[in-house]
Amino acid sequence: MSHRPAAQATPAADAGREGGGAGRQRAGAAARVVVIGGGLAGITAAIGLREAGLAVTLLEARPRLGGSASSYRRAGMWVDNGQHVFLRCCTSYRDLLARLGVAGSVTIQRRFDVPVLSPAGRARLRRTALPAPLHLAGALARYRPLPPAQRLAAGRAALALRFVDPAEPSLDSVRFGDWLASRGQPERVRRALWDLFVVSALNIAGDEASLPLAATVIRTALLSRRDAADIGMATVPLGELHAAAPAALLARLGASVRLGAKASWVRPAPGGGFEVGLARGDGCLPADGVVIAVPAPQAARLAGPAGVPGAAAWERLGASPIVNVHVIYDRPVTDLPFAAAIDSPVQWVFDRTRQAGLGSGQYLAVSLSAADDVAQVPAGELRRQFLPELERLFPAAAGARVTDFFVTRERRATFRQGPGTGALRPGTATPVPGLALAGAWTDTGWPDTMEGAVRSGIKASGELTRQLAGREAASRLGPPGRAAAATGARP
Ligand SMILES: Cc1cc2nc3c(=O)[nH]c(=O)nc-3n(C[C@H](O)[C@H](O)[C@H](O)COP(=O)(O)OP(=O)(O)OC[C@H]3O[C@@H](n4cnc5c(N)ncnc54)[C@H](O)[C@@H]3O)c2cc1C
Repeated sequence: MSHRPAAQATPAADAGREGGGAGRQRAGAAARVVVIGGGLAGITAAIGLREAGLAVTLLEARPRLGGSASSYRRAGMWVDNGQHVFLRCCTSYRDLLARLGVAGSVTIQRRFDVPVLSPAGRARLRRTALPAPLHLAGALARYRPLPPAQRLAAGRAALALRFVDPAEPSLDSVRFGDWLASRGQPERVRRALWDLFVVSALNIAGDEASLPLAATVIRTALLSRRDAADIGMATVPLGELHAAAPAALLARLGASVRLGAKASWVRPAPGGGFEVGLARGDGCLPADGVVIAVPAPQAARLAGPAGVPGAAAWERLGASPIVNVHVIYDRPVTDLPFAAAIDSPVQWVFDRTRQAGLGSGQYLAVSLSAADDVAQVPAGELRRQFLPELERLFPAAAGARVTDFFVTRERRATFRQGPGTGALRPGTATPVPGLALAGAWTDTGWPDTMEGAVRSGIKASGELTRQLAGREAASRLGPPGRAAAATGARP
């Protein structure tokens, strides 16, 4: 696998860099779009825009594509910056993988099946072939960590969630924990059942989660189609899916990908269109359209001065950390590909031996969402806490030697998906014609996930393609003033 930076100079790239100012679209030339941010949102937007025939330059500040879902090399292994999973219902993300030619590098369970470990023993949540929501009724009825009366109560709350409308504005301020408590879900049910799904999906303590987002996750994954929640994950390092494959496709499409290229500012150009300034005095790029596909705080700093009102408020979306504890044993300690845990500091644990390219032993990654309490804890302390815990969950670990132990920390892994965030997430189009937003944090209707990121990129490319095509058509009709009036666009 190659993770070479892919900074090609292509005809499209040259079109984007050549002089001529950022004025109205040049006669006969494709409109130039600069996409800022090479995470999944920016990659998707760049592909869509290029496929629509626009000249695309993708700027990524880091030396690789992939953003929050990427890999790096460590001691002869591939390490993901954090375990990523997706569900069968993540159709846009799966379509992107297919477009990138890497759909064969992920695996999806035949049926949703989650072993739930605890120091008291093992339970299992497994769906049947019955139609939803009956497909999970048996699993809940047999879920031993809860007494039978609480299993019944949980089933009633799940059904009530079907009637929660995530788009209802008055629900934006409601905490999921309060809603659950009002539906007769005691602490034990919230921790041993609801947290399993909500903490990892929303990266926030279950009680603190936004009700509309929690309802979206549960309704979409668990209550809609019976196969919606079947769990998928990469069988290769994330970098192969999200860095190497997009770089290759974008090169084939003739887009320019500039790595290590940080946008410092975006401003309207005197003659129309935009100028995108690069950090370190690397000049500026003229553009007819811009997609800002960076996390919320950076987006606010770029979009505000570009003329988008209210952009500063996006910073209030905040951030929530994810920590992964990586342990390499000298021998296999479990045959489970992954498991969830309750009554334990371990939340989810994944066997990463194959993805990492490890020849012998076993590589387990413990994924800790909403990791505010461990984000600052030194690795030595986490080692003292987690090794005995893994031995409690996997007794064979007691007889194994730990050959490596390290911790990855993403302090701003997602925005903080609590109450009030629905009102803060902006849509794709901005009041500035030609300037669109993308990113998993924008108003996708989905949580801050790979699926949300890809959906936002699709919307942004569609929006700009429409706007710029409209402008091109209008400019053929007459002078700039009339074109602008016809399209609502700045001349
Ligand atoms: C540890 C971890 C685990 C996760 N687990 C899951 C999971 O299991 N399932 C799931 O679906 N999601 C998961 N997520 C969330 C998922 O990774 C994100 O929702 C998604 O990748 C966000 O994509 P994005 O393109 O919106 O943003 P990002 O990935 O943040 O991409 C933005 C890019 O913009 C670049 N950038 C920033 N500023 C500039 C600038 N000025 N100029 C140029 N470039 C700039 C950044 O370097 C970055 O590459 C996880 C995230 C983390 C961190």
